[in-house]
Amino acid sequence: MDRRHQPQNPSLNLAPEGPSPESEQGQPVSARVPEDAPAQTSLDAAPKSMEEGHREEPPRLHFDIFTLFPGMFQGPFSESIIKRAQEKGLLRIGIHNIRAYTTDKHHICDDTPYGGGGGMIMKPEPIFRAVETVLTRPPGWVLPPEDAFHHLPPWDPEQPPTLPSDVPIILLTPQGRLFTQAVAEELSRYHRIALICGRYEGVDERVRTRLATDEISIGDYVLSGGELPAMVIVDAVTRLLPGVLGYELSAHQDSHSPGMDGLLEGPQYTRPAVFRGEAVPEILRSGHHGKVARWRREQALLRTLERRPDLLEKARLTQEDLRFLAEHGWRPSRPR
Ligand code: SAM
Repeated sequence: MDRRHQPQNPSLNLAPEGPSPESEQGQPVSARVPEDAPAQTSLDAAPKSMEEGHREEPPRLHFDIFTLFPGMFQGPFSESIIKRAQEKGLLRIGIHNIRAYTTDKHHICDDTPYGGGGGMIMKPEPIFRAVETVLTRPPGWVLPPEDAFHHLPPWDPEQPPTLPSDVPIILLTPQGRLFTQAVAEELSRYHRIALICGRYEGVDERVRTRLATDEISIGDYVLSGGELPAMVIVDAVTRLLPGVLGYELSAHQDSHSPGMDGLLEGPQYTRPAVFRGEAVPEILRSGHHGKVARWRREQALLRTLERRPDLLEKARLTQEDLRFLAEHGWRPSRPR
């Protein structure tokens, strides 16, 4: 089998990085890109079995992230829950440097906008080439660093390959559908997800029309790139995978989660019982599970009423909840 088509180290793979210079000023990005890509880096989060050369079970979820700034992912994906999920073999993340999929002398990934205007737009070809090359190969495949730029697998810009229909190709964009806990739950049911990180003034429209199958925004504000949104999505989705969190149910008891029926979680306390003169509510120390559960529910209702009354309209509320809310001055706009 062609070496390039074999799955590589399934830990968080940093495809050849090279400097990933900004070009929002329209400066050529090429001058600082080295001729030969540096060696691929695996993070410390590499699963033990892979370090020892054993074959891995497929992870529950594999992310392929396409970016011009692979180095940005190094810290966030090497700590805490994301690190442990990789070590447990539940999660695998392939980071693919879009620039590695350029073949021109200067490895250009952006160009000036048609019609004029400021800033630069990400060119379609490197993105299409990177995504189509990776997604037509098994999860875990990354371009060997030594193949970057010069020994890329063949690709015909005019012949779109058939991409797996069960892998969403998500373009990160402030124009996309809003990322919510419900969207995180939806994504957690896939086995492989591709995330495309834009930069500069955004990506050529044909990435949206001819490659992406979904567009997601993490909020109504504009960031400099899709890398932070990609990290947000990986984090929110990963903690929903069975086995990732120590306490199985805890992700479902968070604010916005199904176990909370669409409510915000109420106040939480730990030791000491009194801190700066404020005591933990007596009921939480009573050991009476039924009363604690009702108190928590009421606190969740009050907190949601106080901070996000909009959520109450869609929350799953019992008759007892409705009575409690009515005592506090809230009634649903439509009868229930
Ligand atoms: N000109 C674009 C527009 O008005 O829609 C914004 C481009 S933004 C400066 C550069 C890149 O950052 C985008 O292509 C996208 O990948 C990412 N980005 C910025 N804000 C985002 C958000 N709220 N959600 C998801 N991605 C975002």
